[in-house]
Amino acid sequence: MTAENAETQRPTVRDDLQSMVGYHSPQVDVSVRLNTNESPFAPPAAFANDVADAVRSLDWHRYPDRGATDLRQRLAGIFGLDATQVFAANGSNEVLQTLLLTYAGPNRTVATFEPTYALHRHIATVVGSRVVSGERDEHFAIQPAAATSLIAQESPIVTFLCSPNNPSGVLESQELVLEVLDAVRSVNGLLVVDEAYAEFSPWSAVELVNEDTPLVVTRTYSKTWSMAAARLGYMLGPSWVVERLEAVVLPYHLDAITQAAGLAALDHVDEMNERVGLIIAERERISGALDALAVERWPSSSNFVLFRPLDRSGQGVWEELLARDILVRNCATWPGLDDCLRVTIGTPEENEAFLVALKEILSP
Ligand SMILES: *Cc1c(COP(=O)(O)O)cnc(C)c1O
Repeated sequence: MTAENAETQRPTVRDDLQSMVGYHSPQVDVSVRLNTNESPFAPPAAFANDVADAVRSLDWHRYPDRGATDLRQRLAGIFGLDATQVFAANGSNEVLQTLLLTYAGPNRTVATFEPTYALHRHIATVVGSRVVSGERDEHFAIQPAAATSLIAQESPIVTFLCSPNNPSGVLESQELVLEVLDAVRSVNGLLVVDEAYAEFSPWSAVELVNEDTPLVVTRTYSKTWSMAAARLGYMLGPSWVVERLEAVVLPYHLDAITQAAGLAALDHVDEMNERVGLIIAERERISGALDALAVERWPSSSNFVLFRPLDRSGQGVWEELLARDILVRNCATWPGLDDCLRVTIGTPEENEAFLVALKEILSP
């Protein structure tokens, strides 16, 4: 058999996934890494010790608590909700996937507002759904009238908002969320607000969560909690959504170590809040410094800032930053983000290195 024959005899993937490429963030080995919105700070040392203690006393021969009871209880307490209104999974990406497996799937429609977090569209496509998109204006704001008419026209079963939005950093107002929620309700849909960065912002849709509202809010330990390595995210929403997700997600999907780490983190909330405060202060400092340079930048309520060099190509500036050992996210070729770069807030030293380099690159 020739090599070519062997290849044509391989099983083919689903027709609708033939041209799909995986989601990834290109990594380069540099000293200042400001490209994936991770926390620049490790969690407190006491946290690592607590996790080590918990792991030492695990019942390794037993399956983990399938319902993640303790974790859900603790999270529910923080938000004034009931444990039945909390769903936890391996990163908020698994929460999103479980939501889409449960409510979307083939012959169903999912709505996004672009540009936004690419995984919403990606996972919706993987589960076989049709994706319709509303556009944002030049401020990356969603126009309420355009959003509500898209929803009325397309009747999506799931509508995504991302607040603060990745990659623009822009926060959705309560008014906008309520207007979209009304439109979603009138087509019997579900509104998913992805709040991966909520801890860095002044307002959250969590206050709108209750048993009578088709709204869920997703959160993650990856950003605020300095725990991207652990893969832990959760959802706050009506218990009738959580119940359905529990039926769909794989049994014992959330391993005992992750549950223990998630619980241990909640004993160190004060230190985490201190880190959040420091990142917010640095974000404001970076934003102010960018305003003095030849860039356009968008107001951020998250742990990153999106900006666009005025007289230079985004690609060119990205390359020059890289030449100075600084990596930011290159969004220059993403649809709707021409020439844009996104910088994650790092430590004060990293931020200073970024600002000094950018100033140098942009000075005539
Ligand atoms: C980083 C990010 C996530 C996080 O996903 P995890 O799977 O929890 O690490 C989710 N949504 C958005 C918008 C993000 O930027």
